[in-house]
Amino acid sequence: MSTCLPCALDDADDEAVVYRDRAWACEVSDGYEVPGWFVLRLRRHTEGWTGPTAAELAEFGPLAQRLSAAIQQATGAPRVYFMSFGENYRHFHFLVIARDPALQPDRRGAAILSLLPDHRDLAASLAVAAKVRTALTA
Ligand SMILES: [Zn+2]
Repeated sequence: MSTCLPCALDDADDEAVVYRDRAWACEVSDGYEVPGWFVLRLRRHTEGWTGPTAAELAEFGPLAQRLSAAIQQATGAPRVYFMSFGENYRHFHFLVIARDPALQPDRRGAAILSLLPDHRDLAASLAVAAKVRTALTA
């Protein structure tokens, strides 16, 4: 078993997958299954902004734009956050979060991460993932 969570997502169940192509993938991730939270990642293991190739980076912009639009369409989120720390998992990836319109102001921005311990709900996360998948293919 891989100790790299983003690498291990290549084995995610189909219902957790929002998007996949040759290079990129977006899934509901074990441990981060808050409804509207996803991991966008390069499928191959590479680290930091120096890791991706120019071709991979050229694909990233349009994909991030499509994904953000699909998440907004599927969830009604006024903002879609893209967070990348490279701290716990050095693998090049983003935590992509639909910010709920009703979220209290003191939980917006990076403070949204404080929702993780009490808001994990796999079934609800997979339901949101299905809606985003549909929006991506529309
Ligand atoms: Zn990895």
